[in-house]
Amino acid sequence: MRSNSFSALKQMKRRDFLKFCGATAAMMGLSELYVPKIAEAVTSAAKRPSVVWLTLSCDSGCTEMFIKARNPGPAELILDVLSVDYDDTIMAAAGDQAEENLKNAVGAGGFILVIEGGMPSKHGFGMIGGRDMLDIVKEAAPKAAAVVALGSCATNGGIQGARPNPSGLMSVSEVLSPMGIKNVNLPGCPADPKLLVGVVLNYLLFKKLPDLDDQGRPRMFYSKTVHEQCERRAYFEAGRFVEAFGTPEMEKGYCLYKMGCKGPLTYAPCPAIRYNNNVSWCIQAGAPCIGCLDMKWPDNFYPFYAQLKDIRFDGTTTTADNVGKALGAVTVAGIAVHATVTAVKSKSGRKGENN
Ligand code: SF4
Ligand code: SF4
Repeated sequence: MRSNSFSALKQMKRRDFLKFCGATAAMMGLSELYVPKIAEAVTSAAKRPSVVWLTLSCDSGCTEMFIKARNPGPAELILDVLSVDYDDTIMAAAGDQAEENLKNAVGAGGFILVIEGGMPSKHGFGMIGGRDMLDIVKEAAPKAAAVVALGSCATNGGIQGARPNPSGLMSVSEVLSPMGIKNVNLPGCPADPKLLVGVVLNYLLFKKLPDLDDQGRPRMFYSKTVHEQCERRAYFEAGRFVEAFGTPEMEKGYCLYKMGCKGPLTYAPCPAIRYNNNVSWCIQAGAPCIGCLDMKWPDNFYPFYAQLKDIRFDGTTTTADNVGKALGAVTVAGIAVHATVTAVKSKSGRKGENN
């Protein structure tokens, strides 16, 4: 599959394109000085890196999110900057022709292998073209220049790999580590395309993958908890909590800790990157975080809407009630909560679930 040469980039307004480059630089923790370099890397890539995108055991949610991104669309950007030579889900080819495309792309080597979905370890539980997904990955990965596991199913099994894991689903790292291959993990259900764009741009800019933590996640995205970055944090510290959906406290945008929010446990960039084309994110929309970007999701996060008993806070373990008592309201004035309250008020009248 080949895109029309740089068509979307040419159609994108220069100002929008630079805005995108600026936002990407900020997301990657780079200074504004990198904006022209990012623009240069994107538009002048002499030879677009080849991408092989395998969609394995998953619901294709990451692809869905990827192809729906817009203004400016990472999908357009990727399709213009990269040569997507094989993609199970969105390619026009089918049957023997698709198999031939995969064989040729893998045979050429040096591609970026994006893997969406996990791999059943039990024979016959997940097959493409008569072959186990596990075997397809084992054949393709050694020939790749870089391997990116995209989304929770690929990084840690996700829903398919949750207990009791009937297909014996394995994550990309579980399959590749014994083969001596290190991969990038971008957990998320689904994973936001901006994260993949960040990894690809890092590759184009610096000719290498980003700095990874001990779980293979780029440090530039996954080094802080949702709680650390949360716009409701002032209310947490002031001990002001929502205790039931549909209450005045909900309207005021108070902290969702008592509604089961797992933000304090979850290392993820959601408050910074936001979703649905940067419109909002879970907590801004009034939903407690269920930890879906964490490497131990979902098994370590049940029940989703039960309050955490303890929380590590400033080096000690405490409870939400004690945090409120200890800190009082002193920090509220120092942290802007107006945006949160405004956003929550715009949801006025919407009733949530209280599980
Ligand atoms: S507990 Fe949840 S809602 Fe409250 S401040 Fe932390 S992340 Fe935000
Ligand atoms: S549930 Fe939590 S980790 Fe998942 S997208 Fe929402 S804020 Fe991020």
